[in-house]
Amino acid sequence: MRLKDKVALITGGSSGIGKASAMLFAKEGAKVVVADVNEAGATETVREIKAAGFEAAFVKADVSKAADCENMVKFAEATYGKLNILFNNAGIMDSNDDNAESTSEETWDLTMNINAKGVFLGCKYGIPALKRAGGGSIINTASFVAILGAATPQVAYTASKGAVLSLTRELAVIHARENIRVNALCPGPLKTELLMKFLNTEEKKQRRLVHIPMGRFGESEEMAKSALFLACDDSSYVTGTEFLVDGGITAAYVTPQ
Ligand code: NAD
Repeated sequence: MRLKDKVALITGGSSGIGKASAMLFAKEGAKVVVADVNEAGATETVREIKAAGFEAAFVKADVSKAADCENMVKFAEATYGKLNILFNNAGIMDSNDDNAESTSEETWDLTMNINAKGVFLGCKYGIPALKRAGGGSIINTASFVAILGAATPQVAYTASKGAVLSLTRELAVIHARENIRVNALCPGPLKTELLMKFLNTEEKKQRRLVHIPMGRFGESEEMAKSALFLACDDSSYVTGTEFLVDGGITAAYVTPQ
């Protein structure tokens, strides 16, 4: 019960990392607000949490819209009385995202609006709520691609995750004496829909797997456990970090055969 009596708001909670984290945070005692544009998916997450005997509620939010972010925070406070944990996790990888020459301005703007501005807006409205609660923990989902370049490019996505890392670092420093910790979760490539819909052939999978020392993609549940660490008091002296959970990719030059 590492999150007993805590209220957590998780964006992108209808699938992947967000859904796994919503389940785990609820099991650990948190009251969880699941925010997502995907109403059907997020409602199902809430249904599953409640069916397991835990507490959760859904609020519809497009994180690229200021009014929606303001509303999701208001909803959390109105429903559960406060906000202690903000997990800005929603993100997209646009199928037309490629190199600088071929990526359209539309793809760039869409990706930046959701992945980077969405995290900013979550923090903009979430931080005052955390202050009202006497402090708390913010986790922003970045990616290992914020740290490594890839010749299988998605420049808008990569740049958006770099923005998340820089924003996280600065917010961590600004709020360090207000009992607010701000950390980035940097997952490696995962077996979630977001990535697997692109890696739809064995060849594409192998092109990546050869670079991962562990030789496999990560699981949403492994990210949820890492997010839980950052959310709870076990990480009480951790702020401003790039928390890499990547199967060793960023440590590798040559991987095992
Ligand atoms: P996912 O596609 O399963 O989940 C993303 C969630 O975000 C979905 O529930 C989706 O409905 C929601 N979402 C999309 N746009 C939204 C918007 N505008 N407003 C609100 N919600 C929105 O993918 P995932 O792998 O669980 O991704 C979660 C986060 O992890 C993302 O930020 C992603 O960039 C990051 N990430 C993923 C991987 C990977 O390999 N899958 C690796 C590194 C980082």
